[in-house]
Amino acid sequence: MTENYLKLQFYSHPRNQAFARDAVAAFCLELEPSLTALSDIKTAVSEAVTNCTVHAYRGATGIVTVECIIEDKSLHIKVSDEGKGIEDVAQAVQPFYTSLPSDERSGMGFTIMQTFMDEFKVDSEKGKGTVVYMTKSFKAEVENA
Ligand code: ATP
Ligand code: MG
Repeated sequence: MTENYLKLQFYSHPRNQAFARDAVAAFCLELEPSLTALSDIKTAVSEAVTNCTVHAYRGATGIVTVECIIEDKSLHIKVSDEGKGIEDVAQAVQPFYTSLPSDERSGMGFTIMQTFMDEFKVDSEKGKGTVVYMTKSFKAEVENA
C-alpha cells in the first residue's frame, strides 16, 4: 500500500471534535480497521482534540492541527496546538492527574490515548504549545487475517 497523508486545521470549538474524530476514522478505512481499532482511534483523537479546547486555548479560540500518515500498515496521528503548553509533561501523563479538578475533569485523557494506541508521545513547551503523537499499527491484524 502506498503512503497517504491528511492534514486538518480547525478552530478549537467543541463542535469540531466530532468532525475531527470522524475525519480521521474515514481516512484510515483503507487499512480495514476492526470496529474495535476504529473506536480506539476515534476515542484517542477526541481526547487529544478536547485537550486543545479545554486546556491549550482555555477561554479563547485557537487553531488545532491534526495530521495523519498511513505508512507501512500503520496510522500515525499528530495533534498540535499553539496554546499554553505543559510545564511538566511527566506529571501530566500520569493517570488521574488534572490541572482542572474544579471542572470535574478526571485526568484520564492521556492515559486513554496511551492505552488505546500502540505508540504515544507528548512534546510540549510552556507558552509555545503541545504536540501529541500517536500510532496505531495494523501489522498484526493483517498477518493474522
Ligand atoms: P480528562 O481528559 O479526563 O477530561 P484532563 O484533560 O485534565 O481530564 P488529560 O487529558 O490526561 O486529563 O491531561 C492531563 C493534564 O495535561 C491536563 O489537566 C492539562 O493540565 C494538561 N494538558 C493536556 N493536554 C494539554 C494541551 N493540549 N495543552 C495544555 N495542557 C494540556
Ligand atoms: Mg483531557
